[in-house]
Amino acid sequence: MSTDPLEQDALQYDAIVIGAGHNGLVAAGYLAKAGKNVVVLDSAEVVGGAAQTAEISPDYQVSTAAHLVSGFPRQIEKDLKLSKHGLAWATKDMATIALDRDGKHIVLSSDRKTDLATIAAHASHDGDAWKVFEGRVAKYVKLLKPLLDRGLPTASGERATRAATMLALRLEKMGPADLRAFLQLVPSSVAALLDRSFEGDLIKGALSLQATLGAHAGPNTPGTAFSLIYGRTQQAIGQGLGYPVGGTGALTEALASAAEALGARIRLESPVREIIVENGQTKGVRLADGTLFEAPIVLSSIDPKTTCLDLVGARHFETPAVNHVSRIKMKGATAKINLALEGLPTFENFSDREYGGRLLIAPDMGTVERSFTAAKRGELTLEPVMEVVIPSYHDPRLAPMGHHVMSVIVPNVPFEVEGGWEAQKEPFVKRVIDTIAEYAPDLGDKIIAGEVLTPPELDDRFGWGNRGWHQGNMSFDQLLAFRPAPGMANYEAGVSGLYLCGVGAHPGGGLTGLPGKLSAEAALVAEKRS
Ligand SMILES: Cc1cc2nc3c(=O)[nH]c(=O)nc-3n(C[C@H](O)[C@H](O)[C@H](O)COP(=O)(O)OP(=O)(O)OC[C@H]3O[C@@H](n4cnc5c(N)ncnc54)[C@H](O)[C@@H]3O)c2cc1C
Repeated sequence: MSTDPLEQDALQYDAIVIGAGHNGLVAAGYLAKAGKNVVVLDSAEVVGGAAQTAEISPDYQVSTAAHLVSGFPRQIEKDLKLSKHGLAWATKDMATIALDRDGKHIVLSSDRKTDLATIAAHASHDGDAWKVFEGRVAKYVKLLKPLLDRGLPTASGERATRAATMLALRLEKMGPADLRAFLQLVPSSVAALLDRSFEGDLIKGALSLQATLGAHAGPNTPGTAFSLIYGRTQQAIGQGLGYPVGGTGALTEALASAAEALGARIRLESPVREIIVENGQTKGVRLADGTLFEAPIVLSSIDPKTTCLDLVGARHFETPAVNHVSRIKMKGATAKINLALEGLPTFENFSDREYGGRLLIAPDMGTVERSFTAAKRGELTLEPVMEVVIPSYHDPRLAPMGHHVMSVIVPNVPFEVEGGWEAQKEPFVKRVIDTIAEYAPDLGDKIIAGEVLTPPELDDRFGWGNRGWHQGNMSFDQLLAFRPAPGMANYEAGVSGLYLCGVGAHPGGGLTGLPGKLSAEAALVAEKRS
């Protein structure tokens, strides 16, 4: 990987990819595999975007931001031969544990019998309700899955007709009761869906956190029921809930190595300032230092608003496209806390396996909703909800023997907080640690070092601003045919040769690599057509 900004060789390429996050690297891998001469340009010093592993303190490593992988398809791993490039999975079979203060944790795993017993321990009706709920979810996932992993049908042509017919057949096959339930679900809030389905507070709290994690939404926000189903569909496309050996940075390092082995070039510390368009055709990009890269195809993994309006410029788009893109909703900030521990904290009533789970702290839907309401007001909730993982449980090399690292995502944390972050950071961290300590009282004694990334600090490191995880909220009005904006769901950004390949494009957020793969395929198909 070259980092020399003065290097001036071979500035003409078949395709340029902006951003060496996981989607940019997947796109580059597929384009290079198809024989294209590709360069990936990234402003950062290292590859990975939000999927990077780094030290918290010497000998303690953790995924700095994104920590779990659930939607990364086996197909991409195979196509790009990622195992040959060092990708190995520490686990792909994590259970989700909804933590209970009295130790009656709910376990959601591949072991159905245990799951039912732990759910029914809170409300006897909920064991049977879970079976019905999961049965329905499985049907909806089956309906949506082909739209996510193969991309949306194009607006016209034989393929579109076939896809539309398949969708109609699948809808018909669901039967009237399930179809009615699906149509009722789509605009519903996840709170309404879960209240209809369950009695227990803990199961509702955990599922509502899953539906809204990383989104600018609370359980009562309309459309979040669909978000839950959408997230489950993304998981079904992936290989199970887990993470690679070496953290999420190991995934992007394997992707970079694979892309380079296929012939792609990765150039770091190369911020793109402008995407050059002449007479409606993409010509290349200009870096901040003025260096020009020429190519008839440019794929951008930067958010669609910045790509179209700042890097290209509104004047190159039709007015309706400018209106749609400028209205993309991108909001919602998160904090990340990474801790080095001198041993495992003691969670009440945990079996060994549960330490390796995804631990959710969301005692009920009201707590999740209140954290969202506080965030909307620019305040920090007094009862943070969170997702906690102990990655060293499955991957002991992340910490010295017997020691561990803990990775905590705290959603609904405002970018700008009342009173300012300088004053608020310490009490915020204390509150988060005290909240985990309600379930694992000796946590405080085990902490050796820590790293706290507030939303502005995540922005400094990764450049997201207050734009949320997904370069566009994952709400129903911004998914499927509406992602990133009407008329752009097939990756073409509205200027010939320009494609969107980041999470802002279909099928959206998380470490799935699908926007990268599908956009590269779309670019290759369009090139053949022309
Ligand atoms: C705190 C946090 C936790 C998360 N946890 C999870 C999780 O556990 N699991 C999960 O699946 N998802 C998680 N996500 C979401 C996930 O990280 C993102 O959806 C995903 O990483 C986006 O990948 P990407 O390749 O599309 O974009 P990015 O990873 O954002 O990559 C974009 C790249 O573009 C580069 N770039 C930006 N501007 C320029 C420019 N002008 N010129 C050149 N390069 C530029 C950046 O440096 C970056 O490398 C989390 C997000 C956050 C913020």
